[in-house]
Amino acid sequence: MRYISTRGTAPTLSFGEAMMTGLARDGGLYVPETVPVLSHDEIAALAGLPYEEVAFRVMSPFMGGFFSDDEFRGLLAKAYAGFGHAARAPLVQLGPNHFLLELFHGPTLAFKDFAMQLIGQMMQSALARTGERITIVGATSGDTGSAAIEAFKGLSNVDVFILFPHGRVSEVQRRQMTTPSEGNVHALAMDGDFDDCQARVKDMFNDFAFRDGVRLAGVNSINWARVLAQVVYYFSSAVSLGAPHRSVSFTVPTGNFGDIFAGYIAHKMGLPIDRLVIATNQNDILDRALKSGAYETNGVKPSISPSMDIQVSSNFERALFDAYGRDGTAIAQLMDEMKTGGFRISQGALQMLRDTFASGRCSEEETRATIAATLAATGELLCPHSAVGVKVAEETLGQAPMITLATAHPAKFPDAVQSASGIRPALPPRMADLFDRDERVTRVPNDLAALQTLIRERLAR
Ligand SMILES: *Cc1c(COP(=O)(O)O)cnc(C)c1O
Repeated sequence: MRYISTRGTAPTLSFGEAMMTGLARDGGLYVPETVPVLSHDEIAALAGLPYEEVAFRVMSPFMGGFFSDDEFRGLLAKAYAGFGHAARAPLVQLGPNHFLLELFHGPTLAFKDFAMQLIGQMMQSALARTGERITIVGATSGDTGSAAIEAFKGLSNVDVFILFPHGRVSEVQRRQMTTPSEGNVHALAMDGDFDDCQARVKDMFNDFAFRDGVRLAGVNSINWARVLAQVVYYFSSAVSLGAPHRSVSFTVPTGNFGDIFAGYIAHKMGLPIDRLVIATNQNDILDRALKSGAYETNGVKPSISPSMDIQVSSNFERALFDAYGRDGTAIAQLMDEMKTGGFRISQGALQMLRDTFASGRCSEEETRATIAATLAATGELLCPHSAVGVKVAEETLGQAPMITLATAHPAKFPDAVQSASGIRPALPPRMADLFDRDERVTRVPNDLAALQTLIRERLAR
């Protein structure tokens, strides 16, 4: 199994190399050369298995034997042992044909734990073979950073630096990043918004001298291993509702397009998915692009679902790559046009995207109303991101059962949830002391050279 870059010129890599590399050297994203297909019988056989076994069967065909079977089963067991629910990704029912996939039972209460806990185990195991050290640098709108810090803290061969937009993450998110005391964890509050943080991380990856000097590795949602780990819960949830004997639909609260792209991969692997719905908040570049064909940035408007406050959706490049017939040169050109604000998607590519994805947008007002209405109708308290999904899903319900992904626990966004519902969600008991722990954070400017100096100094200690 080889991995190729969406921009066509970076070297092809193995699974392990793609995981350690993150962003390709031509600026592109790694995708599998071909997507393995599971047969009808293989999918049917997943029904009723433990989550970890579903993960083993879904992910193994992509890994080209990088881990032995026993090794990989051991890593999966460790990755998900800290989850607060035996099913890992349980389904609850919201309405006659509408289900909620609760992806927030991991250690930082957001779906990102599914991929991050596993990639932490996989990277540690790969590094232990050679004794190498790496430096992880990531940008976060809140949830990736906390999940990364939780997954990598205390690992002996890894330093982790997380850039988050100062003042633009929730207090729970910030505290999850600033309270771990392990010396290999560095939380950096940067002046700017999430796109600025993401841009500085990309700059560091594109500075090859720096990249090689500190052995930079990425765990942002562009890392293929993360996308792959997220494919698993599409299978586990779909088979529990009767797939592959019937189709199911999914609605996915979307920002950087990593989670929904995992659903697209599940579909390509043979999972019968009827509709795959992109749900955006008021930062709706993807919904606008699908409707108008113009992929154009519009500035970030801070919302009550901050983990979806992006204007450039990194993983969308992977979908574009397929929509443009896997023409890396065409993608490189589009991404160049992106620097000046956007581009028009070609007619053929737009048709492919519209055949594959539906989309909808949810305003701030609608998000709050959905939190209140869902609580009244079902007793389920949604986080604002999940509420965006539920609202868009309700407009899209059809024959196939709809599964909406609940991407975070309501207690991660207590102020927004309280103002919408009147109820202040409590943290689960295992993290109830979060507000009593000491914080450790460094304020940094939106400046590449200053960031590189800081990272080099910290590594030299
Ligand atoms: C990251 C995140 C999203 C968006 O996921 P993408 O993979 O970036 O599209 C949605 N909701 C929550 C709570 C998140 O943390």
